[in-house]
Amino acid sequence: ALGYNQAVKENRNLYNMLQELRGNIRVFCRIRPLINSESVSSIEHIGNDGSIMVCDPLKSQTTRKIFQFNKIFGPTTTQGEVYKETQSLIRSVMDGYNVCIFAYGQTGSGKTHTMCGPSGGLSSQELGISYMALNDLFSISTSRVDVKYDIHVQMVEIYNEQVRDLLNIRTCSSNGLLSLPDAKMCPVQSPSDVINLMLLGEKHRASSPTAMNHRSSRSHSILTVHVNGKDMSGNVTRSSLHLVDLAGSERVDRSEATGDRLKEAQHINKSLSCLGDVITALAQKNSHIPYRNSKLTQLLQSSLGGNAKTLMFAHISPEADSYLESLSTLKFAQRASSVELGTAHANKESNEIRELKEQVNTLKNALATKE
Ligand code: ADP
Ligand code: MG
Repeated sequence: ALGYNQAVKENRNLYNMLQELRGNIRVFCRIRPLINSESVSSIEHIGNDGSIMVCDPLKSQTTRKIFQFNKIFGPTTTQGEVYKETQSLIRSVMDGYNVCIFAYGQTGSGKTHTMCGPSGGLSSQELGISYMALNDLFSISTSRVDVKYDIHVQMVEIYNEQVRDLLNIRTCSSNGLLSLPDAKMCPVQSPSDVINLMLLGEKHRASSPTAMNHRSSRSHSILTVHVNGKDMSGNVTRSSLHLVDLAGSERVDRSEATGDRLKEAQHINKSLSCLGDVITALAQKNSHIPYRNSKLTQLLQSSLGGNAKTLMFAHISPEADSYLESLSTLKFAQRASSVELGTAHANKESNEIRELKEQVNTLKNALATKE
């Protein structure tokens, strides 16, 4: 225990130094409980300071590895507790901030559970983040009498580098306007409007080519909420919330995968490794960030590098057999947590500023005429 505390302390110091140097993408790690016949866990220790220690329980001689994140949610954490830690970020959308939340991890690690709830979460008590977020946004929208909000949602999936509109069945064209795909924008007025759209989206997703073998685990799904606000004096805010359920990050053994499976796996590997490249390039402050290498990073561009707040949930399956996948997820997530996003600012222009700009222009013109 002493060794662990020492190692955590050193790791923590290093982490704090990095945070101060770089700022970050927030990374929360969530470990789901052991389910069904799983019995041996690779999670050795979860600290209450965001640290986690893992080891391979199937090996007699194994190295313990420690990782550090903004938060770790252990197997007993409820959906409500997860949402509570996410709420302030989500609420900031109403003040004009762009927010992107994405769920990363191997298939079966709990990504959909976190985002949507158990088996879609539509009839369950354990609602996922997407539903709680939209409920929250609507309650803010009705409680603020001084601001009038318009809320629209889009729902797309990316399967084999094709963007598919889940609210209006068609494949989106790949023209230049990829940061806001030409997917159908549906106005929503209440949480039940949203639930109905999500049900429709899920239905369309289930009928997609991904349904044939292992359903949604082979595609990325992106639910985007657009919020426009206008206050009494005409100040406007425009922002968006992306809720992304990524395709499973597990590597498919190339010698076994053939045909469609191989093609899917290659597309997923490519887009997730491109996501990793973008994250690394951002962390290294490179002048060129390779957003254009995959549809996923093109669509998420403004939520990764630009003026946005980003949160990644790294999901871990605790069972021993998943140890190597878990390690790879933890490494990916650790890399993500060193990205500096700069200071996000709200997308608003106040009336005052607009009026002042106009005055400046009028004066400039007056001056020009004088000369
Ligand atoms: P993924 O979307 O990453 O493939 P799922 O969300 O479908 O994974 O989760 C896989 C299984 O584990 C499901 O049966 C789900 O209900 C269960 N599960 C995942 N996370 C949790 C959790 N936090 N608590 C209880 N069960 C969970
Ligand atoms: Mg899933």
